[in-house]
Amino acid sequence: MVRENMLEVLGRIARAAQRAAADPSEIILVAVTKNVGIEGMCGAVDAGMTHIGESKIQEALSKYEQVRAYASAKGIILFWHMVGHLQSNKARDAVRIFDMIHSVDSLRLAREIDRQAAKIGKVQDVLLEVKTSPEITKYGLMPDEVAGVLKETASLDHVDVKGLMTVAPAVHDPQEARSYFRTLKQLSARLNTLRATRYELRMLSMGMTDDFEVAVEEGATVVRIGRGIFGDRKEA
Ligand SMILES: *Cc1c(COP(=O)(O)O)cnc(C)c1O
Repeated sequence: MVRENMLEVLGRIARAAQRAAADPSEIILVAVTKNVGIEGMCGAVDAGMTHIGESKIQEALSKYEQVRAYASAKGIILFWHMVGHLQSNKARDAVRIFDMIHSVDSLRLAREIDRQAAKIGKVQDVLLEVKTSPEITKYGLMPDEVAGVLKETASLDHVDVKGLMTVAPAVHDPQEARSYFRTLKQLSARLNTLRATRYELRMLSMGMTDDFEVAVEEGATVVRIGRGIFGDRKEA
C-alpha cells in the first residue's frame, strides 16, 4: 500500500513539475511519519523513502534510533526533517537528530539552534517558516520580518538557512492555496535579489497531501506528505 501510494505521489509530482517546466528529480518528497509506528516507517524505507519528516520531537526521538538502525543495516542513509513547531528548549534534541529543521519561526529559536549545534560541532541546515496567510493560529514569521531575521542569522556560524517553508491553511479547493505558495516563492525571489543572505535561498518547502500539486506548480522544491502515503491516521 505504502509503495503504491508513494509511486502515485511521485507520478503526480512529476506531472505537476512538467506543467511548471521544473525538473521533477530536483523535488524532494518528505514522507511525514507522524502517528506512523516503527514498523510502518521501516516499510516506507523498504518502499524507497529516504526523507523522513516528523512534527513532534518526542515522537521522533522515540522512533529515530530503531528506524535509523534498520535503514543503516541495509546500507541506506536517511535524511530526517523536523517539520512541526519547535520550542527553543527542545532545540538540543532536534539538532542531534535532524538534518533539516523546516520550522524556524523566531530569531530566538535560530540562536538557540546555533548554540546547540556549536556544542556538537555541527552546522544545522534550517528553513525559515513564513506565515503566508493572515490566520493568527499559524506559526511563522510575517513575510516582512524575514529579511531582518536573515540579516541576524547571517552571523550565526552553526546555522545555515537553506530556504523558506510555509503551511497553507486547510482549504476545500487546492487552487485556493495557490496564492500562499506564490507569496512564498515571490518572497524568496525578492530576498535573493536583495542578497539578503550569504547564500541563495534555494529550497521552498511547501505542499502537503491536499495541495502538493499546486505547490509544485508554484515552485516547491520540497513537499511534505503524510496521509497521501500512509493513509489517514488518528492522533496517537
Ligand atoms: C502533518 C504535516 C504534514 C503532512 O500532512 P498531510 O496532510 O498528512 O500530508 C506536512 N507538514 C507539516 C508541518 C505537518 O505537520
